[in-house]
Amino acid sequence: MTATALTSFRASGTLYLSAPEAAELIRRLGLPLCLQQIADHIRADFLRWPDFDKSARTAAHSQGGVIELMPVADAHRYSFKYVNGHPGNTRLGLPTVMAFGVLADVDTGAPLFLSELTLTTALRTAAMSALAAKTLARPDSRVMALIGNGAQSEFQALAFQHLVGIETLRVYDVDPAAATKLVNNLQGSGLHITVCDSTAEAVRSADIVTTVTADKAMALILTPEMIQPGMHLNAVGGDCPGKTELHGDILDTAQVFVEYEPQSRIEGEIQHKSADFAVTELWQVLRGERPGRTGAEQVTVFDSVGFALEDFSALRFMMDSALRLGLGERIALIPQLADPKNLFGLVSGTAASGAARDALELAV
Ligand code: NAD
Repeated sequence: MTATALTSFRASGTLYLSAPEAAELIRRLGLPLCLQQIADHIRADFLRWPDFDKSARTAAHSQGGVIELMPVADAHRYSFKYVNGHPGNTRLGLPTVMAFGVLADVDTGAPLFLSELTLTTALRTAAMSALAAKTLARPDSRVMALIGNGAQSEFQALAFQHLVGIETLRVYDVDPAAATKLVNNLQGSGLHITVCDSTAEAVRSADIVTTVTADKAMALILTPEMIQPGMHLNAVGGDCPGKTELHGDILDTAQVFVEYEPQSRIEGEIQHKSADFAVTELWQVLRGERPGRTGAEQVTVFDSVGFALEDFSALRFMMDSALRLGLGERIALIPQLADPKNLFGLVSGTAASGAARDALELAV
């Protein structure tokens, strides 16, 4: 695959997948299959965890949000994602989370694939949540509370339906229009959906609780009295410093699982806790090296923040699928040079026209 992708890159440039083309890819394959495939890719990559060069993402914080860069690599491929989180964006008509990224060839550094990752992030986050729940939740889980009904929510709902076996959703959002949007979008999905008046009402009798709210605050979406023995909590929305969703006491009585511990200590629900607070990285459970749930009464928490390896897996899936389906276009992101030492040849012999010079002066 590496040789083929590199040959195509040399012949015709980087494969670019825009957001509309990514949507077309997902429509053609079907969302359930994409979720399953991305979960399988994540699982396969988590099973070879030691092969990856890993680091916590770098984050540029501002008053309204954060912009992050998420790199990861194995011996063959390197990927990074650019992603933001601005909870106030929807008031400006922009998504809270926007992303794009690259999959590159390690041997040469050639950027093979440049892709939208806003849609792909929603799929990979939902696939990751479902993979964690499949591993940690009680196998008889059928009812999920879904708190926060924004951009990520339908993807979470469908991943839990198709990959975990959830049949009933109990949803709540402080914005009733978001809950209505979710109900409309999931019509015909086969899920039984109840819109609730509060988080406490939604959580009652749920086997799994997914929190996927956006607020740049130490929020208390879930408090200890809401938690029933045997629940699995999928805490997705708390994903940067000063932004959490769970009351700290919940973590003390639960078994907590994370993606990459060094990053989760900074960004996850466990940022409230001391450095020696016990957590298990999920890959260890997937490989059978550490226990997951140890009893039907235990409360398990997947303290999700989103790790670069999940995007690496998703980028692999999206690139291979785009190639198979003939989607995306080749772009000249990198100059194609007959003599690779003659970069100057691209611009030699040119002189700015008078009109262009005038335009530049005006612009300054
Ligand atoms: P969004 O802005 O589209 O939706 C968030 C929803 O949460 C909104 O409808 C809002 O009204 C609701 N909300 C806010 N406070 C609430 C509260 N107290 N109770 C109930 N509902 C509340 O955002 P999104 O794209 O759906 O993302 C949701 C969160 O998930 C963000 O914080 C984002 O950073 C995070 N996220 C995490 C991962 C991960 O891998 N862990 C990946 C993607 C997004």
